[in-house]
Amino acid sequence: MGISERTQKLLWTRSGGRYAYCRRELISDPADTGEDCVVGVQAHICSAKPNGPRKDPALPPERADDYDNLILLCMECHKSIDDNPDKWPAERLRELRDEHERQVDRAMRAAFEDSTQERLTRVLDRMVDGAQIMDLQSRSMAYDLGHSPLSTEGKVELVAGFLQDCEDYQQLKHDLPSGGRVRAAHDLSRLIRALEDEDLLVFGGTYPYSVPFGGNMEPIVVCMIRVLRSDDPRIRSDVPEADE
Ligand SMILES: [Zn+2]
Repeated sequence: MGISERTQKLLWTRSGGRYAYCRRELISDPADTGEDCVVGVQAHICSAKPNGPRKDPALPPERADDYDNLILLCMECHKSIDDNPDKWPAERLRELRDEHERQVDRAMRAAFEDSTQERLTRVLDRMVDGAQIMDLQSRSMAYDLGHSPLSTEGKVELVAGFLQDCEDYQQLKHDLPSGGRVRAAHDLSRLIRALEDEDLLVFGGTYPYSVPFGGNMEPIVVCMIRVLRSDDPRIRSDVPEADE
């Protein structure tokens, strides 16, 4: 018996690196020794021992190490909670763990959704002609394409055609002769205007990224292009107008 590796991973990940009750960090260096230490217990909500705290006769011994019966506590909280089982019944501990996990989940979502928002509105510029897109592509090694949800088949076709052309020209960029580059830029400009006629705006920019290469992480530049509905909430109101 024992707590399975899968259960441990779930418990530690969902806890977001914090103990459920005191919310202190799981990894810390309280004595300032320069060494991270992990001081905590994967505590049983209902004890697996015969006379342990919150012993539940209905809980079969083989289920004691299940996720539902576990909570991450620091040593001090663990002792205090186990010394006072009347104050800390099993149900209250489960609620504590579940509420802690919900809070971690909300915090993580907010952090990552905010960074997406930041990326779209701070890093991307409005693209009004194909030459701007060709310029981004010449400075980047990979692409990241996307769009707002689309309401009609016509818009789907338009966006699909535009993004496919962006991808094709990105792949061809080293092989296109000068004349081909002029035609490609013209083609993209025409498609951008067709999108604008349908209230779809094109934004573009680049961002740094790392990819594994030969045992190291190599920095690369990614070309990001988004086709957004003019009412897409990811467009910030202070994004400059194209003609400014
Ligand atoms: Zn604690």
